[in-house]
Amino acid sequence: MAQHQRRIYLDHAATTPVDARVIEAMQPYWSEQFGNTSSIHSIGREALQGLEEARQTVAAVLHCQPNEIIFTGCGTESDNLALRGVAWAARQSKRGNHLITTPIEHHAVGETLEQLRELHGFDVTLVEVDEYGLVDPDAIGRAIRSDTVLISVMYANNEVGTLQPVREIGQIARARGIAFHTDAVQCGGSMTLDVNQLHVDLLALSAHKFYGPKGVGVLYARHGVDLVSTLTGGGHERGRRPGTVNVAEIVGLALALKLSQERREIESARVAALRDRLVAGVLEQVPDVRLTGHPTRRLSNSASFAIHGVEGETLLMALDLEGICVSTGSACTTGEAEPSFVLTAMGLPRDWAVGSLRMTLGHLTQPEDITTVLDVLPRVIDRLRKNDLGLSD
Ligand code: PLP
Repeated sequence: MAQHQRRIYLDHAATTPVDARVIEAMQPYWSEQFGNTSSIHSIGREALQGLEEARQTVAAVLHCQPNEIIFTGCGTESDNLALRGVAWAARQSKRGNHLITTPIEHHAVGETLEQLRELHGFDVTLVEVDEYGLVDPDAIGRAIRSDTVLISVMYANNEVGTLQPVREIGQIARARGIAFHTDAVQCGGSMTLDVNQLHVDLLALSAHKFYGPKGVGVLYARHGVDLVSTLTGGGHERGRRPGTVNVAEIVGLALALKLSQERREIESARVAALRDRLVAGVLEQVPDVRLTGHPTRRLSNSASFAIHGVEGETLLMALDLEGICVSTGSACTTGEAEPSFVLTAMGLPRDWAVGSLRMTLGHLTQPEDITTVLDVLPRVIDRLRKNDLGLSD
């Protein structure tokens, strides 16, 4: 990559840069209003005020009560607290032992449920997804048993962008009296988060996906949903997430969420138009490539592909050398290409599922970036297919 060349960042699903207004809003809480929210004196009370205002801001976006908002250390922690918290509460009250999910959840959900199965003896049913990564709400309904206590289905998939029928699943769960959790970590900036419209009981968010800081998340937990805290300690967050509260980042999360939601329709339309140009260009210019995920029911910023005859990580590195940052669901951890588990669950054969490419657009994306990518990507893929990594080009 030439020194003067601007890098193109097409990995907004991995993380986003922090909005300057968010940095500014957090500033006082590092040094002036540095108090511990549990302290009774004025410096503590100032910090508590910042925390409670942030909670109200988030609650307004989610259309819920402020005391249904739990601040956590990240999206992963929110998912962990929701799943383990509900499962343990059900165990405590002997209400049931059965959990339902899909095979394409983020590891924050998949691995937590796997641990609940392996170490705690819960039964976990994985309801299959179709070729687009969509789960059928009726199939979820059919998987429900008399001892089912929790359903967890993500709002949008992080690799292929497919939006799940969360509302329909929520209605089924509600009618059967089962807690419904959705991992909405990819949706903070682009989708409605109205928990009543969505019929969800538990919803996880993470600030760094919507131009907020890393290391802070939210779990919404509806009144009446029993949660056993997975951390034990003091009484912070009404005992559901003990630990001295990270006020500065929570203030940042709340403002980032408010700003993202205020501009979500305009920004979604802007990036969707660029994304559509990118998808059409890739499908037209690259032979043996498939769009992965649903063609229309998908996040506005998500373009994902399976590319035959190319390994995802090799492609990622070759594009990085050209100044283009993307990601892949295929790993190369053992020296051999590992197919993407999401694409595999969607029925793609191994020779396609090792070639996962994800490009996610966002605030940084400009029309000229798409032009550059459509110029570079077909060339790079062609070169890799000819078995030349292109390192000397
Ligand atoms: N869930 C989904 C769908 C994600 O995409 C991610 C992060 O990529 C997470 C959970 C984990 O969030 P965090 O990085 O805040 O732990």
